[in-house]
Amino acid sequence: MIRYSCDICKRDLDPDQDLRYVVRMEVFAAIDPAADDDEDRDHLQEIQDILERMEDTENDQIGEDVFQQLRFDLCPECRKKFLKDPLGRDIAKVFGFSAN
Ligand SMILES: [Zn+2]
Repeated sequence: MIRYSCDICKRDLDPDQDLRYVVRMEVFAAIDPAADDDEDRDHLQEIQDILERMEDTENDQIGEDVFQQLRFDLCPECRKKFLKDPLGRDIAKVFGFSAN
């Protein structure tokens, strides 16, 4: 049986009692439309093209710079916290990180 634990507070999630929430994030390089002569071109198609090219080269390093997919399991409490501050901006303030 697969056991899941919350990726934020690390507590084990009991499949019989706890709701488990899955967060999926995709971070990918934005394509600047001005750099393309054909402005009507579908940008999703462009990303698809880039991904296909990357698969050809099998270069994982470049792949992560252009496209990354993340997946997290969260307990109900951490889901609430996550939705209040999905980018961790409050945490950044606490640690005194600069925005620039
Ligand atoms: Zn949690």
